[in-house]
Amino acid sequence: MPELGSLPTLHRRITDWFHHEARDLPWRDPDCGPWGVMVSEFMLQQTPVVRVLPVWTEWMRRWPTPADLAAEPTSEVIRAWGRLGYPRRALRLQAAAQRIVEQHGGDVPDTEAELLALPGVGAYTAAAIACFAFEIPTVVVDTNIRRVHARLVSGRALPEKSLTRAESALAQTLLPEDPGTACAWNAGVMELGALVCTARSPRCGECPVAELCAWRTAGMPEPHYQPRGQSWAGTDRQLRGEIMAVLRENGSATGSELQSVVASSGRLGEHTPEPDQWRRCLSSLVADQLAERRPADADDDGPETTYSLPG
Ligand code: SF4
Repeated sequence: MPELGSLPTLHRRITDWFHHEARDLPWRDPDCGPWGVMVSEFMLQQTPVVRVLPVWTEWMRRWPTPADLAAEPTSEVIRAWGRLGYPRRALRLQAAAQRIVEQHGGDVPDTEAELLALPGVGAYTAAAIACFAFEIPTVVVDTNIRRVHARLVSGRALPEKSLTRAESALAQTLLPEDPGTACAWNAGVMELGALVCTARSPRCGECPVAELCAWRTAGMPEPHYQPRGQSWAGTDRQLRGEIMAVLRENGSATGSELQSVVASSGRLGEHTPEPDQWRRCLSSLVADQLAERRPADADDDGPETTYSLPG
């Protein structure tokens, strides 16, 4: 646990640093509004800012309110999601927009409990929207924040593999009591983890709290486990992404057309998917409601079955 006496210093240094160094992102603009913040939080889950920015900008131009997105055909929503990855997020964001229209008069709800009840909104996203859109002083804990807490306070190179009670309790202890400072603290620690205290090469020379950092003081000991890199080439995730790219472009295609277009794109490199992998990926896209089979009762995922974007 940190020295409680050093907390005001941590708060001041990190919020000052955030005030001067934070990236100028459109969802941080005071005029952005809760819907823009909510869209950004859906898109930023496991996706870097640089890829989110153009998609978010176009999304907000087309659908500036939840009602606009709620009324759109699902196929258009999937197309607009483009190559952001994890496209089920697009379906959930539209389902959340529809729920906001039906149950909240078209306005993003302003309590954590109501946010948590929306489709696709988990504990982190509810807390982040509550804090960044409505300035509710709540504990926000994402990967970047957990890594900064682990180093700065716990003296470890990495946080645990998944969020523990001890980490949540630590985040609660570190949260400033003053509501205005609490939200700046959450945003500041998150930004510090994204820009300075990065996973692979922390730039401690630029860190506003370097001399208070427990991990540095301890001589930067090795991680207590080896993080596994996420493989991508040849995975079902990659093949699903390529299938969705063809459907976004063409609207529909047979199984054999999909195989031919994906193969000729060269994006799979050396990997040639086996028939089992094709069937598995097509079936899972249908099960996830990201694609539809035609005829609807086709159940073989064979080369002549036609696939299209839903709705
Ligand atoms: S001193 Fe280095 S390791 Fe410690 S919080 Fe700052 S950037 Fe991270």
